[in-house]
Amino acid sequence: MNRNQNNRKTSSRRHPMTREEAILAEKKRAEVRKRQQQTRKLVQKGIAVAIFSLIGAVICLIIVFSYIFVDFRAYDKAPDEPVKITYEKDSTVVLDKDYYSYKNGEYYISLTKLSQLCSFTLHGNSKNMTLTISDGKSASFDIGTPNVKVGNIYSVLKNPSYFSGGHLFVPASFFEDLCNGIKCEFDKMGKVRGFNMIFDKDFSFRVNAEKESEAILGSTLSTSSEGEEIKFKADLSDYEMYMNPENKDEYLILINNSNKLSKDYIPDDLIEISDTRNDRDKEKMRLYPAKALEAMFIEMRANGFYDMGVTSGYRSYEYQQTLVENETAQFLSQFDGDREKAREKALSRVSAPGSSEHQSGLCVDMSTSAVLSEAFSQTAVYKWLYSNCANFGFILRFPKDKSAETGIVFEPWHFRYVGRYHAQKIMDEGLCLEEYLQNIG
Ligand SMILES: [Zn+2]
Repeated sequence: MNRNQNNRKTSSRRHPMTREEAILAEKKRAEVRKRQQQTRKLVQKGIAVAIFSLIGAVICLIIVFSYIFVDFRAYDKAPDEPVKITYEKDSTVVLDKDYYSYKNGEYYISLTKLSQLCSFTLHGNSKNMTLTISDGKSASFDIGTPNVKVGNIYSVLKNPSYFSGGHLFVPASFFEDLCNGIKCEFDKMGKVRGFNMIFDKDFSFRVNAEKESEAILGSTLSTSSEGEEIKFKADLSDYEMYMNPENKDEYLILINNSNKLSKDYIPDDLIEISDTRNDRDKEKMRLYPAKALEAMFIEMRANGFYDMGVTSGYRSYEYQQTLVENETAQFLSQFDGDREKAREKALSRVSAPGSSEHQSGLCVDMSTSAVLSEAFSQTAVYKWLYSNCANFGFILRFPKDKSAETGIVFEPWHFRYVGRYHAQKIMDEGLCLEEYLQNIG
């Protein structure tokens, strides 16, 4: 049988193979097979390298494009047409590109450059700068925010001022909205293409005289629940409706371990908190508290407190769950791995999912530093907040001596919006929300 097969295989050859020849042939075949295998492996490797390179290239392209996209959104491309400034009897300068920009849909002009041209004085630091013009009047900019104080009146611009390359840039709307004797012209060809600023010889700030005198005396724009006057340094009249909501009970909601929010509760009027710390994405909160908080920050700045920022606003149920888990993990070793005890300890510091006010969008954590600590209670701004937060509709939610009632340790950074009416009663009587609701209930 074997021989037959062998015969059949070799029958096509001219000479029958010797045993050595057969071995040699077999070796050759094996070599060819090996080479084929190697080639195949090489090709496979090549294909893999090509695929990975392609994926890498695509990722790079995506990164580059998204970078460009983000960049364009943040810095809107300035129209090519020049920015001209006409001052002192027709002296016109065309501003160098370093002295203007185009952001958020409007021109920004370097106030530093403008001051040199028009002999205004500009002094201050990277947080706050004051422009003084020839009539002695001044305008102070809270850099990085839209807040500006002209004379004694605080105003809010459409866009924030910013500091770059040693220059203070302010939005052109500042000149349009708050100055007299200046004309801002746009060359319009379908869209804004150029910008002219023409100074009259009597350039001055536009200040509402009535508001000005009120501000000098101490603004008395608001009244407390007891009918007493509240004196704000800033003009917060636009914020009154938010600090003191028409329906005074609408935001008087108790959220704690015994009064939980449902897992799928998400407020439907969340807006960004303008005073979120610069080192994080904008936090959110419900409309009324967010506007009332904005007012509180304007007033804080009017009182010389510039270094406050919001670290946390609205948090989802799921996020709160993660916070509790992280906190529990930190206490595990302290309780020799007893999860139950570690969680109990964690829950004395972080609210259980559903029981955190942060899910309601009615509260914020804010401080002068990114790290929240009890040391904040020693700062002057905390003392100011403690005495004044109620005027804006906020209460200190977890006071020092109320842990037994609230179930939460002292949190000098956590402020909760309830509206002015109830906030003033709660803060005046030195109560926590639980006690207040029991008293009126
Ligand atoms: Zn908090």
